[in-house]
Amino acid sequence: MKIAVYPGSFDPITLGHLDIIRRAAACFDKVYVCVMVNCEKKNPMFTAQQRMEQISRSVADLPNVEAELWSGLLADYAREKGAAILVKGLRNATDFDQEYQMAAINKGIYPELETVFLPASAEYQHFSSTMAREMIRYGQPLDKYVPAPVAEELKKQAENK
Ligand code: ADP
Repeated sequence: MKIAVYPGSFDPITLGHLDIIRRAAACFDKVYVCVMVNCEKKNPMFTAQQRMEQISRSVADLPNVEAELWSGLLADYAREKGAAILVKGLRNATDFDQEYQMAAINKGIYPELETVFLPASAEYQHFSSTMAREMIRYGQPLDKYVPAPVAEELKKQAENK
């Protein structure tokens, strides 16, 4: 059984993340989307619990995908799940430089752990959580940027304010 972990902060999940999740779900038997609680990004817009729930709703049609929270070391999470694959999405050379380094660090901690890179699909190459947060702050329509269940939830919240 090929078990993969797709880690990130997902503040919030975007259609770019969802595209990577769908493609990973087609490659591996099981994909755990790991919301990293203690990652370096400060002052998140959504709590880790909210981000995990947003992901769970977005992947409801993918039976082999599960979202979880993790506050420890990523390599420990992968080991605990019996996962030997880390999935990362690559948008550009900046992502590559950063992720290449992270892959070496994770392999140093857990030598059996392989990082697999999936190139961003052309239509989502410029998508980021930062961009999605800007759209939310400025009350822009979100359907084009975040998964439908998340866009609907945020729209309702904005209407109730
Ligand atoms: P962001 O960089 O948007 O804040 P995260 O830190 O949550 O996102 O990233 C989680 C993973 O998703 C990383 O591997 C990142 O490179 C990847 N990723 C982010 N946005 C996209 C996208 N639009 N297409 C493909 N991969 C992406």
